[in-house]
Amino acid sequence: MAIKESAASAVNAAPRQLDAIIIGAGFSGLYQLHKLRDDLGLNAVVLEKADGIGGTWYWNRYPGARCDSESYYYCYSFNKEIEQEWSWSERYPEHPEIRKYLNFVADKLDLKRDIRLNTEVSSAVFDDTANIWTVRTKSGETFSAPFLITAVGCLSTANVPEMKGLETFEGQWYHTGLWPQDGVNFAGKRVGQIGTGSTGIQAAPVIAEQARHLTVFQRTANYSIPARNGPVTAEDVRHTRENYDEIWRLARAGTNGHPFTISTQSALSVSEAERQGIYEKAWERGGLRFRASFSDVLQNADANLTASDFLRSKIKEVVKDPAIAEMLTPYDHGFATKRPPIDSGYFETFNRDNVLLVDIKAEPIVEITPRGIRTTKQQYELDIIVFATGFDALTGPLVNLNISGSDGARLKDEWSAGPRTYLGLQSPKFPNLFTITGPGSPSVLCNMPIAIEQHVDWITECIRAMRANGHMRIEADADSTEKWVAHVNEAADATLLPMASSSWYLGANVPGKPRVFMPYAGGFARYTAICDDVAQSGYRGFALS
Ligand code: NAP
Repeated sequence: MAIKESAASAVNAAPRQLDAIIIGAGFSGLYQLHKLRDDLGLNAVVLEKADGIGGTWYWNRYPGARCDSESYYYCYSFNKEIEQEWSWSERYPEHPEIRKYLNFVADKLDLKRDIRLNTEVSSAVFDDTANIWTVRTKSGETFSAPFLITAVGCLSTANVPEMKGLETFEGQWYHTGLWPQDGVNFAGKRVGQIGTGSTGIQAAPVIAEQARHLTVFQRTANYSIPARNGPVTAEDVRHTRENYDEIWRLARAGTNGHPFTISTQSALSVSEAERQGIYEKAWERGGLRFRASFSDVLQNADANLTASDFLRSKIKEVVKDPAIAEMLTPYDHGFATKRPPIDSGYFETFNRDNVLLVDIKAEPIVEITPRGIRTTKQQYELDIIVFATGFDALTGPLVNLNISGSDGARLKDEWSAGPRTYLGLQSPKFPNLFTITGPGSPSVLCNMPIAIEQHVDWITECIRAMRANGHMRIEADADSTEKWVAHVNEAADATLLPMASSSWYLGANVPGKPRVFMPYAGGFARYTAICDDVAQSGYRGFALS
């Protein structure tokens, strides 16, 4: 049914009755709507707080924002026509092209008529007797349905650090994840950028080109691999289109949902010269594939050291001033134990005359003043401050929905010591609520569209099976959840990932957030096999009634 009624007319009206409510109109919400509406024939709606679709890509419009997976597989795989009709212009397209793609898909599948924009969810409450979720929006509308699916993304709650004096700043400040629709004009401005994660590493080179001066405030130095971005040729497009079946087969068979295999040889099994040669080749090729150079970069500390040392040496080769190169060199964590950024000229940026690097571990920020940022050593005069300070990842977008489940249990309380999910798909006490790429699933360790499709397909089949069998309610068992949480920890502990103490995978970037390794590190193919097995067993570990 087309959504035409105005928000105002629906206030105080009875809840609009649906079969399923989906929150969020990014990659996951769009595909979930298509599956539930067009495959199962359900009356489903997507509620989206923005005034356009795109999810993460709607909000992240900061300079230099591009995807980190290569475009030919940073897209949906479920529709052959879309595959054959769409072509990307670059190896790593910028944010407007990704939004254009999502709009192309939404138009092609006629999704927009069931997407309600400018509709921010303020709460979701489960009725135990009727097995119905009621979702309330900020404007006072209500929607109810047996099934609620959160498609709110993993990196969508901006983390703006509490900094003394921010309210006194007389210039403009922005968080990269809430970037103004019309962009920011940096011409002639003195810009301060806080944060050197994937976002800051993408943004700094572009801001440096546009601004009069850029000061980068770095808390933790980072590794980065050159993206080696470039145009996609007609020959590339033809090759991709002809080989999509194999591309998706490889992506699903792997650890991270990328269509390439991780080397089977240990970094320690080859000579120094051979190892350097392999790293050099991977560096020249660029991109996240560098991680796949050897089998044990993320499993064995000595193997990891070889990759970390190689990348440290590259920083020293690129950055002309040895003192700045040293400041930019990470020593506190091994390569890829935090999400590795890829860049287009990041380290080169520090060779520019209009760029300054400030190590805020050596000279911490004391306060933001009306005219800039004051550290323990000096005042930096600024017109614009850019917070590239990341997100309250994975759990933030979910707990902020203000969800109350069975017997009034609140998600925020249930997860106060860290997220507790079964397969990252459901949590005990929250029947009929599914989270797409929730904590406890491969999610952010994966090429996201592939992880999303696997979750959406699983949820859709689960709802189909429930309806076929006359089930009204599905809820994760407490016991299977405990076991899954233990397995998620075990899988992380089998890698070096938990060793990066400042990683957002652990929630360490948000003060007060419990330190729990949140994504499932056991590998995408293994995870998919577990989910399939659970479904085939009649949903072992879930209570159905
Ligand atoms: P991030 O990786 O969490 O980096 C945030 C940066 O801000 C870090 O350098 C952090 O320092 C710093 N920071 C945080 N709080 C601070 C404070 N109070 N004072 C000073 N510095 C502070 O966030 P992100 O760069 O936005 O990236 C998050 C994730 O988004 C990425 O890892 C990636 O998965 C995804 N992403 C993807 C793409 C893409 O695909 N194209 C692009 C961008 C981001 P510490 O390291 O010391 O905490």
